Amino acid sequence: MASELKRADRLAALGELSARMAHEIRNPLAAISGSVQLVSLRPWVDEKDQRLFSIIVRETDRLDGLLRDFLFYAKPNQPTKVKLQLRRVIVDLCALLATDPRLERVEIDNQVPDDLVVQFDKDQCSQVFWNLLVNSAEAMSGEGQIWISGGVTRENGGRSEVCIRVRDNGTGMNPEDVKRVFEPFFTTKKGGTGLGLATVYRIVETNGGRMTVNSTQGKGTTVTLHFPS
Ligand code: ADP
Ligand code: MG
Repeated sequence: MASELKRADRLAALGELSARMAHEIRNPLAAISGSVQLVSLRPWVDEKDQRLFSIIVRETDRLDGLLRDFLFYAKPNQPTKVKLQLRRVIVDLCALLATDPRLERVEIDNQVPDDLVVQFDKDQCSQVFWNLLVNSAEAMSGEGQIWISGGVTRENGGRSEVCIRVRDNGTGMNPEDVKRVFEPFFTTKKGGTGLGLATVYRIVETNGGRMTVNSTQGKGTTVTLHFPS
């Protein structure tokens, strides 16, 4: 208990520091990106320099994204829990993702029943499924299938829980990687941040749930989320 509290204190202190730090870094970063975009419009800038400028803009954007993800991981917003019709959240998200090239040839089978309701922060719930769906799509090099199912189950203590499964037929992971997926900055992707699942874990935790990952290399991955109903 004492060490749990210590960990919570440490995380809170780290969150405060990161928030200030990220704020300090993001402002000049925005100024760099904005100035370079303006200079790149000047008539004397040739094609070669244009390319270099676009690298600066792309990389400052990437840094900004990394800071934003880290900030969210280190200091998640307090959830505003509301009753969410999960099927609806996923339908809306799929509509949003329809324009994402990573999911162009991915079929999403939303089997979540209409009446399944979870107590969850709306934006955070979308962020959870967004991260899971993008990971699944990235594990398929574009083509494959994702199944999302859900229902109410009873856990050992007799309390009922909402259980949601996101399963894909992507590359899967080896057992060593599965053990590390919730570690911040653990990634096997070129250009990955390794903050996706760490953030999902934090969000699920702060909303009172828990989650597990099962995976078989060459077959696919299943992420299971549990929430008190
Ligand atoms: P990132 O996507 O930036 O790498 P994540 O935290 O989202 O970071 O994922 C960490 C790692 O876990 C990934 O790099 C990948 O190796 C593995 N992973 C996550 N989801 C899946 C999945 N659905 N199928 C296969 N591997 C996955
Ligand atoms: Mg990811």
